Amino acid sequence: MAWLIIIISLIVLWVASLCKFFCGSFHDAKAAFLDDGRVFGRNVLLVIAHPDDESMFFTPTINYLTLRGHDLYILCLSTGDADGMGSIRKEELFLASAILKIPHQQVKILDHPDLQDGFGKVWDWNLIAGFVEDEICARAIDSIITFDHYGVSGHCNHRDVGRGVQKLLHDFSERPLEAWELVSKSIFRKYSGPVDIWLSKLFALFFDSRHLQCLLNEDPSKTYAAMAQHRSQWIWFVFSKTFNLYLDY
Ligand SMILES: [Zn+2]
Repeated sequence: MAWLIIIISLIVLWVASLCKFFCGSFHDAKAAFLDDGRVFGRNVLLVIAHPDDESMFFTPTINYLTLRGHDLYILCLSTGDADGMGSIRKEELFLASAILKIPHQQVKILDHPDLQDGFGKVWDWNLIAGFVEDEICARAIDSIITFDHYGVSGHCNHRDVGRGVQKLLHDFSERPLEAWELVSKSIFRKYSGPVDIWLSKLFALFFDSRHLQCLLNEDPSKTYAAMAQHRSQWIWFVFSKTFNLYLDY
């Protein structure tokens, strides 16, 4: 009997968590993420390592920002050519960006010999910082979003991107630039599904909203439509448990 109660309780918790995702978006949409009362939107730069990072990891943020009129730019540091499909993946990123309401001309994809996709490929942080700096100047960027030191999935290219942006911020600390990094979670939290939302909300309560934000995905259907554009990567999506329903920053 005790086991039955436990199982029923877990099912109720799981369903309640799922309802929170789909019904709680409007409440959480009031979070003051990148909102300091400006009349005009910000110019926000999203720095990623590979085509599909934007759809796999950042769509709750992209949806949040585009819905509020901010100008979003993407700097993708490689074509994702580890399997020789770089040219295909570039086009897939442009298609996904169109779904996410990011104009083609606001998406830049690099193909530098020292920034090639792959496990074990070490990317120079100074080189990354230089490219990001160029983009900040060219686009009058005032806010930047990227991976943290672990890179969510632990991929070395993601980690180097996070470190490269950190280096830029350290070297140009006098620049008026607001930066947010996507928080990587433990494997237990990552694979606990929607139930983890309560833990994220709890953590957010203990931190100043200027330092930690938990964003719910306000348009999950757009996320799946964007992910569907990355046809060459479907095998990874099938095995991935990274559901883009919410993110912690
Ligand atoms: Zn990636």
